[in-house]
Amino acid sequence: SDHDLTYPEHPSAMRWSEHYPHFVATIPAAVPKDDPIATRDYNEYYVARMEKRVEVADIGCGFGGLLFALAPRMPATLILGLEIRTSVAEFVQDKAKALRLQQQQQPPASAGAETPPVPGGYENVSCIRANTMKFLPNFFAKAQLTKIFLCFPDPHFKARKHKARIVSATLNSEYAFVLAPGGMVYTITDVEDLHVWMVEHLAAHPSFARVAEGEAEGDECVAVMRRETEEGKKVERNGGRKFVAVFRRLEDPAWP
Ligand code: SAM
Repeated sequence: SDHDLTYPEHPSAMRWSEHYPHFVATIPAAVPKDDPIATRDYNEYYVARMEKRVEVADIGCGFGGLLFALAPRMPATLILGLEIRTSVAEFVQDKAKALRLQQQQQPPASAGAETPPVPGGYENVSCIRANTMKFLPNFFAKAQLTKIFLCFPDPHFKARKHKARIVSATLNSEYAFVLAPGGMVYTITDVEDLHVWMVEHLAAHPSFARVAEGEAEGDECVAVMRRETEEGKKVERNGGRKFVAVFRRLEDPAWP
């Protein structure tokens, strides 16, 4: 049940500064009285001062293997995991904090650090507890995201449970809304039936076109998704197959 989930009324009401403190813009010492920002409410005040917005979302991130693998590869991009299980979301939040601290406390290479610092120091990765089937547009504005990952979603095998799948005509419209044109949806699963379902539903959506396999396989994100997700590792150990599909968010058609 998710009756106790909290979510912002609107993306601008989200306190991103708590998730990405290193990306809070420097606040000028004296805000002029006529500065419109100074008259806004607390939440907007903070939003107005974030240097960046979240651009990459991992839907149902689990324990965050993909998040922590992506973070150093795109150190200037804010990456967010969304996870419905409270304890799992907390685990990812705590891990991000621990990794940041470890990076901050590491001596510089000149002082004999054994391992090189991780680009971005994990400051660009965080996680929130959310039911992405319900509140996605509360967190992200239109065209805010450049990448959405749907990695090993729960398969919900029985036909009467298919409505619980995180790829559907309705949810695809939400993904299309929050993704910028040219943005990507990455899917991976070991369940062939679910792969076929996701491909069918995304291909049928007017906002998405499947990326050719050659191009998808050349995308580093695909390699990371195969290798670094917890489920991807499990499937690897068991010698299972991984089915991948990547979709591009198309431009909206011009009004006639
Ligand atoms: N993506 C991770 C991976 O590849 O290792 C975890 C995959 S796990 C099979 C599916 C995850 O999705 C679980 O952690 C589950 O709690 C989460 N989940 C399922 N439904 C969700 C929803 N509506 N909103 C957010 N997370 C959800």
